[in-house]
Amino acid sequence: MADFETPEIKEFIGIPALQEGSMAHSSPFIAYTDHQEALGYPGELVENWQQVALDKMDDLRSRYRSFQVFLDSCVKCGACTDKCHYFLGTSDPKNMPVARQDLLRKVYRRYFTFAGKYFPKLVGAEDLTEAVLDDWYSYFHQCSQCRRCSVFCPYGIDTAEISMAAREIMDAVGKGQKYCNEIIGKVFTVGNNLGLPGKALANVLEGLEEDVEDDTGVAVKFPLDVKGADILLVTPSADFFAEPHIDGLIGYAKVFHETGASWTLSTTASEAGNFGMFIGSYENMRRVSMRIRDAAKELGVKRIIFGECGHAWRIAYSFLNTLVGPFDFLDQSYPIPQHILEYTWGELEKGTLRINKEENDHMTLTFHDSCNVARGSRMGDYPGGQFDYPRNVIKAVCNNYVDMDPKTTKEATFCCGGGGGLLTDDLMEIRVKGVLPRATALKSVVENEGVTHMAAICAICKSQFTKTLPYYGFTMDQIVSVHQLVSEALVMKGSEQEAELDGTDGDDTEE
Ligand code: SF4
Ligand code: SF4
Repeated sequence: MADFETPEIKEFIGIPALQEGSMAHSSPFIAYTDHQEALGYPGELVENWQQVALDKMDDLRSRYRSFQVFLDSCVKCGACTDKCHYFLGTSDPKNMPVARQDLLRKVYRRYFTFAGKYFPKLVGAEDLTEAVLDDWYSYFHQCSQCRRCSVFCPYGIDTAEISMAAREIMDAVGKGQKYCNEIIGKVFTVGNNLGLPGKALANVLEGLEEDVEDDTGVAVKFPLDVKGADILLVTPSADFFAEPHIDGLIGYAKVFHETGASWTLSTTASEAGNFGMFIGSYENMRRVSMRIRDAAKELGVKRIIFGECGHAWRIAYSFLNTLVGPFDFLDQSYPIPQHILEYTWGELEKGTLRINKEENDHMTLTFHDSCNVARGSRMGDYPGGQFDYPRNVIKAVCNNYVDMDPKTTKEATFCCGGGGGLLTDDLMEIRVKGVLPRATALKSVVENEGVTHMAAICAICKSQFTKTLPYYGFTMDQIVSVHQLVSEALVMKGSEQEAELDGTDGDDTEE
């Protein structure tokens, strides 16, 4: 365990007493020269960095109207101050969303507004100094870009967008974050965040086929690079090796098998995640997204389905078509793209899947809404579908389900604390402190409603929870993938589970 004090879980999520500067020391590792240059940024802090930063800010405010509007329109009403999980977990006032925005706003005012140029003190404008740049680096990497604060802002100011812009400015001056930039480089060179080469991926999939057959007696396939398949599944690379992610991948494969779908994974698009969003770079987001379009064309698929990944689904739903569309070569009678939950729920509704809910009876589930799904996307064709689809699927495969405090779910969900490019060990302190509100809500349903497990549909949430919730007394295996629950309850035709259920497995043969 790392060297810091884990906050105490109280009965309710409360506003902490302020501790100024308590997280000023928290900064992620800086990107190496080659990570920076691979993404088209300077390898290290450039000599005239102030001018480069201001030019970049000018460029961004002219390109993205929302950025300029957000910088101009805050009235300091205070509605957002206690809405950020990092403020609630750290007590550092600079983690209040409005204070985080102000780190950038005061520089914007100084150089781009009349009042700030001539009466800086009057309007809280400040010069761009090295100390300010250090503060930016520290506190814009204590924002997971979850957008919870924007839900409560009467003007809809989105701190996430300001935080993305700040990171892009820092990349432009040569002060990027190692974790994100190294990962984006790996996607360009190898195809996924992990740097897992095609051969290794093929081996993993082969191993999964053996495991599933051992477990069920059914030869479920995990196809890779199959030309002419109907569906390209794009899923986070954590699904290939991490727990509980991999159990979710097994669930997708079983559902596809049972519905007779023709599907494939792709070596070159073996990653749904797109860290280009975390660094605020639409150019890198586009480059990462392009692999998916290219793979879909190359394989000649008709549909693209995304696995359980929060930010990947937000990008898929909200940006993919603009970034790398049009997808006129796909079958237009299906959603483009589609979420695996939309697929599975559609099949459950049609009654294609035989389900034995009792397989999950040893658990009482709750569900964590991932912020990028909840506040940046939809599922189905109606507002709020993104809240219903995962719950519908869980309830269809489990008998015991309880929601957490509504102040912490759906559009008001608290971030897991590891999103936005913070899922790295060098940021463990902010991650552990940031999970406090979710841990508090979870503890309440564990103690009062008998909840034993929490399901999630985001690779980052799953990794973050399994690592940080043990600091609060939970265990790693209390976190499950939604398709893991599907996998457990699904009774495949010809499986050992089917034989057992129908009493045709030979065990109870009468003498
Ligand atoms: S976007 Fe999320 S992490 Fe960032 S300031 Fe707002 S609430 Fe905090
Ligand atoms: S809620 Fe909006 S307007 Fe109010 S202080 Fe926060 S960002 Fe500013």
